[in-house]
Amino acid sequence: MSAPESPQPRVLFVGGLGRSGSTLLELLLAQSRDVCAVGEVVHLWERALGADERCGCGERFTACPFWRQVGDEAFGGWSAVDRDDVLALKDRVDRTRHIPRLAKNTLPAEQLADVRRYADLYTRIYRAALAVTGARVVVDSSKHASLAFALSWADDLDLRVLHLVRDSRAVAYSWGKQVRRPEVVDGEDFMPTFSPFEVSKLWTAQNAAFHLLAGRAKVLRLRYEDFTADPAGTVRRLRDFTGLPDDPAALRILAGGAPEASAEPAAPFRAHSVAGNPLRFSGGPLTVRRDEAWRDRLPRRSRAVVSLATLPLRVRYGYLGQRGSDESGERA
Ligand SMILES: [Zn+2]
Repeated sequence: MSAPESPQPRVLFVGGLGRSGSTLLELLLAQSRDVCAVGEVVHLWERALGADERCGCGERFTACPFWRQVGDEAFGGWSAVDRDDVLALKDRVDRTRHIPRLAKNTLPAEQLADVRRYADLYTRIYRAALAVTGARVVVDSSKHASLAFALSWADDLDLRVLHLVRDSRAVAYSWGKQVRRPEVVDGEDFMPTFSPFEVSKLWTAQNAAFHLLAGRAKVLRLRYEDFTADPAGTVRRLRDFTGLPDDPAALRILAGGAPEASAEPAAPFRAHSVAGNPLRFSGGPLTVRRDEAWRDRLPRRSRAVVSLATLPLRVRYGYLGQRGSDESGERA
């Protein structure tokens, strides 16, 4: 049932560093019937197949009917997937340290076989998700640049990459907070935290990698701040980027949306997503607003570290401190 005019499955890969608004954006896009959001597929092997964590629908991975169908369609059942083999392959292909060679024009035969086989696992999942749902575009919010590079070597995939960026100081503030992971069923677990300096290194490396990827794939850059300022316009722009027509009905989910859009109640907004931000377990209308807590709460010293360590790309993206037009509301 995948779209007849496009034999290759089409994926919108959301890239960038975590805590940049990708889960919110994914949920918003998934309100359209022709879009299927599947969460962060990169974590499927360990967290879903391995630990049987909860899907965005609330069920454990093995109890979720959507994922069972996807596994049947893609592999003849998840039991046919050798998880240890996949994890070993992932280690050989999908690591930030492999990006320099994945960015080249050619690969030695053995590495090429590995990366093609790895990309094929994802292609099968995307194709199956489209077949099961009848959607035309699948959204994978895995974010890691190394996976996007691996997918750019796929034989049979229509890859579109959204490079989502957010002010490094906001990202650093978010990664410093303790956040519980609701998808963990047994016991309690928290998302990792990173120091301002670690976040600065990750932020720079991830974002720089997506600039490099533009030589191999279609990449659209979007700032979190522009997304939150205009969620409806952002959805239109991303649907256009993935070759989909405008779908005003998709915006019903937005709290305080257009008056004509509130005539019908919003659909329950849960996606069958693996891994990702805890937001995916909430229900009801979506409020998209820029989270500016970092301006008051990020300690002065941390802010100085991040501001300096991320300066070159911050300038490139227009995160210019008090002089920048984006920062007119800044309190020193
Ligand atoms: Zn589910």
